[in-house]
Amino acid sequence: MLNSIPSDPMTSLRLFQILSPGDDLGEQRSSVAGANAYRLMLLPATIREAAEVADVILVEMNDALATYQSALVWDDHCGFTVTIERSLDDLLRPWHDAGVNYLSVNIYYDRQPWTDAMESATGLRGRLAEEAPYCQLVSRVDDITLANQQGQLAVAMDIEGMNALNGRVELVQTYYDLGVRHMMIAYNRNNLAGAGCHDQNLGLTDFGCKVIDEMNRVGMVVDCSHTGIRTSLEAMARSAYPVVVSHTSPRALVDHERNITDEQIKSCAQTGGVVGISGVNLFLGADAATPEAVARHIAYVAELVGVEHVGISLDFDPEEHASYESHVESTVMEDVDNEFWPQGSGYDRPAQTLHIRHLPDIARSLMELGFTADELRAILGGNFFRVAKEVWR
Ligand SMILES: [Zn+2]
Repeated sequence: MLNSIPSDPMTSLRLFQILSPGDDLGEQRSSVAGANAYRLMLLPATIREAAEVADVILVEMNDALATYQSALVWDDHCGFTVTIERSLDDLLRPWHDAGVNYLSVNIYYDRQPWTDAMESATGLRGRLAEEAPYCQLVSRVDDITLANQQGQLAVAMDIEGMNALNGRVELVQTYYDLGVRHMMIAYNRNNLAGAGCHDQNLGLTDFGCKVIDEMNRVGMVVDCSHTGIRTSLEAMARSAYPVVVSHTSPRALVDHERNITDEQIKSCAQTGGVVGISGVNLFLGADAATPEAVARHIAYVAELVGVEHVGISLDFDPEEHASYESHVESTVMEDVDNEFWPQGSGYDRPAQTLHIRHLPDIARSLMELGFTADELRAILGGNFFRVAKEVWR
């Protein structure tokens, strides 16, 4: 066991003990008998919280956490969209506190007027430096490394559904220039480009084909989350570059239309792409969204197509994580929303998304399942980073 005793002048003297793998917490507690001991993972936010109430902080350093801290941690999709009412600091700080290195911020989904995508993208660009100075908008892969070296969270954007293009292929370049680095074909419902996962299982349209060619040209990653099966397979066959399914789960484990079939997973892998596992309990087949459930779904994809084709995108929203349910309730009350979140698909049941601070717990669960440190680093971000290096310009 390593004892380091940095005193925090702001909060009076406290003892920090770093626990090694195999250390018994009970023993450590008795060695500091009488003190109010607090066990936690080595994340800045949890240390700050614990420092408020603890005399002694037992910092747990196990192999999984050590690996997490040495990894490039990549979240390819969050569950919020940028609006003027929401403070970027409130929205983005949890990722910074969790030690995440790269986050793709969602700026639009198909149910919105297409102009919202422009407003959100320009709003994020204009407000980020002031409201969340610990973030850095990136446009090239080298920018991610540079931002991380300066202790900053690298941020880019994504779009859920090609209604954002308003029927105009040339807008792909415009969104790319604004910072959008991946775009889904559809959001649950069919659109001008192809099919959504909760709609008629149609193929990629002529317009959809042109958009994919244009995305290949400008360096934007094609994303088949929320997309219908046939459209996904055709998009993966058409794209000359790796395709991702940023936030989903295997349908073999949970039979839900938002999840993807083994055929989709294999086709995605054949492009050199990555399947990101989301942290939403409805798609994980669990009452509660747990790190173990996410790890189980990751392990399934790794087993099917190889560990180099799986990642994590929790779809976490800081303002709704405790009550993802309330978002869903509001959506099923209006008729139009029944189209996007159809009745009978479980959206009216209590829902939950795993908090981003549990990423190290996912790492630990994966290690318990037998994944090595190198494999963990690939899953936590190396795989998505590889795709970006191949596709971004
Ligand atoms: Zn989504």
